[in-house]
Amino acid sequence: MANDHNQDLDRVLLTADQIAARVKQLAPEVLAGFEEEPGSTPEITPVPIMTGAFIFAADLIRQLPQKMQIHLMHASSYAGTATRTTAADPSQVKIDATLSNVPDDLTGRHVLVIDDILDSGHTLAAVTANLKQRNPAGLKTCVLLRKQRDAALDFPIDHVAFDIPDEFVVGYGLDYDGYYRNLPHIGVLSQAAIDAHR
Ligand code: 5GP
Ligand code: MG
Repeated sequence: MANDHNQDLDRVLLTADQIAARVKQLAPEVLAGFEEEPGSTPEITPVPIMTGAFIFAADLIRQLPQKMQIHLMHASSYAGTATRTTAADPSQVKIDATLSNVPDDLTGRHVLVIDDILDSGHTLAAVTANLKQRNPAGLKTCVLLRKQRDAALDFPIDHVAFDIPDEFVVGYGLDYDGYYRNLPHIGVLSQAAIDAHR
């Protein structure tokens, strides 16, 4: 097929099966992180960060066997064809209130932030600062991927599904210029594919 998006990958980093197995394993770890005393987990309020986390969040929340209300937050830190954040610091990350539906008041709620990837950390810093102003009872953070670079490794985070090399990846929700989100696996985008979009 002429427009097969797999042709644009240098290599597959994580297969759909590997991702599914890790998400299944991660769910009880996330629940245990919220336990106030052994065996008693409070109601959790997941907040997936749009758009990159939509597939990971959809899979993770279906492994969490409790009643919950889910709220979305829309954050963007860089323009479509950039492969590194253009936000110099967390204040430049844009949280779009009209595309988000998080209540202003999170009093008593135990929030689980779900994001796709931890790179510079600016997005998670901005999102957690924003959510803390809403007075949640607790706030935990969970990412699918963390890049092997100092900024990401030094960033405080509660749960990481996979550590990956510091390369630009797409698939399973992660995009390049809006494309590749529907790949069921995660792969390294080739330089040729990056150049072709620019
Ligand atoms: P940070 O703010 O930590 O630098 O980056 C977080 C956001 O940048 C992620 O939510 C994601 O949208 C985007 N991002 C960072 N690294 C990558 C990558 O390798 N591939 C893709 N597709 N997006 C990335
Ligand atoms: Mg994102």
